[in-house]
Amino acid sequence: MITKIDLANLIFPEITENIEDLENKYPVRNLKEGAYVTRFAPSPTGFLHTGSLFTAMIANKIAKDSEGIFYLRLEDTDTKREIEGSANTLVKQLHEFNIDIDEGFMGDSFKGIYGPYVQSERKNLYRTVIKQMIIDDLAYPCFASEEELNKLREEQTERKEITGYYGKYAIYRNLSTEEAYNRVKNGDPYVIRFKSKGNHENKIKAKDEIRGELLLTENDQDIVILKSDGLPTYHFAHVCDDHFMRTNLVTRGEEWLPSLPLHLDLFRSLGFKAPKYAHLPVIMKMDEGKRRKLSKRKDGEASVDYFLEKGYEPYSLLVYLMTIANSNYEDFLVSQKDYDLNHFKFSLKKMSLDGALFDNEKLNFYAKEILSKMKKEEIAQKSYEWAKKYDQNLKNFIEKDYSRYETILNIEREKKNPRKDYAKYSDIYEIIKFFDNEEYNKLLANGFIFNETISKDVIKSFLNEYKNYLYLEEDENAWYQHIKECASKFNFCTDMKAYKADPTPYIGSINDACEIIRVVMTARKVTPNLFAILSILGKEEALHRIDLVINAL
Ligand code: GLU
Repeated sequence: MITKIDLANLIFPEITENIEDLENKYPVRNLKEGAYVTRFAPSPTGFLHTGSLFTAMIANKIAKDSEGIFYLRLEDTDTKREIEGSANTLVKQLHEFNIDIDEGFMGDSFKGIYGPYVQSERKNLYRTVIKQMIIDDLAYPCFASEEELNKLREEQTERKEITGYYGKYAIYRNLSTEEAYNRVKNGDPYVIRFKSKGNHENKIKAKDEIRGELLLTENDQDIVILKSDGLPTYHFAHVCDDHFMRTNLVTRGEEWLPSLPLHLDLFRSLGFKAPKYAHLPVIMKMDEGKRRKLSKRKDGEASVDYFLEKGYEPYSLLVYLMTIANSNYEDFLVSQKDYDLNHFKFSLKKMSLDGALFDNEKLNFYAKEILSKMKKEEIAQKSYEWAKKYDQNLKNFIEKDYSRYETILNIEREKKNPRKDYAKYSDIYEIIKFFDNEEYNKLLANGFIFNETISKDVIKSFLNEYKNYLYLEEDENAWYQHIKECASKFNFCTDMKAYKADPTPYIGSINDACEIIRVVMTARKVTPNLFAILSILGKEEALHRIDLVINAL
C-alpha cells in the first residue's frame, strides 16, 4: 500500500530534515521581556515606495523602542515581477533614511543566524515543512488544469457561491494517496495545496494591534503553497519565515488584512504560535476632492527617490511620516521642539485608521523647520553632497568659495527664530544665486522690477546719492540710519507711523527706499536680511551693482 510517506518521499526525495530539525536550527530568540522582533519584507519589484518606507520606519521604531530586533527579508518569490538590482537599491535607500537593520539581507552580504534572508534561497526550508505537511495530511498535490479551475469558477459564480478552491470544489483534495502518487510519478504537472479544515460559515476572533479584536470569516480555501516553479506563495512563505525567524510582531500594509484568517489557519494547522499583527494604513492622496492611494504611475511622491532628488533632508520625510503615523507626535513636536525621533515613544494604539493623507504642505513645513535648525556647517555640507549628485549650478556655486557659501547660509540662522527659506536643498540655488556675479548679470539682462509709482529718474538719483551713504563697516543700526538720511533727501518718509497716517505728501516710505536697494542688490523684492547680504557682497560689489543698474535704467 502506498502511504503518505511514500508520496512525500516521491515529491521531496532530497529532503532529509523535518520540522523539528528546523526548530532546533532556529532557536527561539533570547530577548528581554517585551522586546519586539519586527521585519521589513520588501519584494524587489522596483523603487522603494513611500508607503514601504513608512512601514519600514514603524517596524524599525517598534523594535528599537523595545530593544528588540529589526531585520530585512527579501521576498523574491514572484519572479515575474522582479526587477534586477532593485534589492540592493532598496537597502541603500533605507540606509539613506538612516533605517539600519540589525539583521538580515544587506545587499551584498547578510547578518544573523536566522537566514538565508532571501526567500528564493530558502527553498529547502519550505520543502521540508511541506514534506511534513503531506505526511500529516495538511497538504496535497493538486493536478487541476487551467480549464478545470475556470470551470469551477463559472459554476461558483452561477450558483452565487464564494469562488476559490475549497470544500467540495477542492477536486483533488480527496484523491487517494495511490492515485496522487501515480500521477506525480507519471510526470503530471501539479502544485501543492494546503488542506484547510476551516469553514467559511464560521467566524473567528483575531486581534490586530491597531484595530483591536476583530471577528473575521474563517478560512477554508485550500490555497496553493508551492507553485509549479518550485517556489512558495507569499502566504505560505511568510508563515514559515516569520515562524523560523522568530518574528513576534508582523507590521505590514492593510491590504493583507483580508488574508489574516488564512495566515492564522496556516499557523494553527502547523502548530506554530502566530505572531502579533499590525496592519498599517495605506498612504492616500487627495485628488480632485477624492482620496485615493498614492499611485506608482501617477504620483512622484510615491517613490522615495522623488524626495531624495528634490533634496529633502531624509530625516524630514521621516519626521513628517511619523506625524501621519501617530497624531500625538505633532503635539509632542509643538511642546518639546525636539525633532529627534528617538525621543518620541511611538504607539500602535495611536495609529490613525482612516487612511493616512499625504500633505505636501505639511511636509514642507517640517522640512523647513528641520533645515532651519541645522548649523551652517551641517546644511552647507549636506547640501553640497546633494548638489554633487543633483544640481550642477549649486555645486559650481559652492565650489567657487565654500566658506562664503556657509556665510550665505548663515544669514539669520543660529538664533532663536531662524529664517525658514528652504524646505529642500533644491530651493537653495534660486534664492541665493544673485550672489554670483555671472548670475546677477543674467538677472539684470532680464530687467529688474521696481515699484512703478516711483519714477525711474528718482530711482536713479536716489541710487547715485546712496553710493555716498553705504557704510558697511558700521553696525546694522547705524547703516540703517544712513539709508534714512539719504532717503529723506528724496522725500521718502522715514517715520512709518506718520506715513501710515497720511502718505500723500511723500514719494514713498523708508521701506520703499530699502526695496530699491534690495532689488538692485538681489533682483528680488523679498530676501533675507539686506544688511547681511550687503556685508557679504562687500562695498565694492555693491557700488558696482548700483552703477550697473543706473546704466541699465
Ligand atoms: N512582500 C510583501 C509585500 O511587499 C510583504 C508583506 C509583509 O510585510 O508581510 O507586500
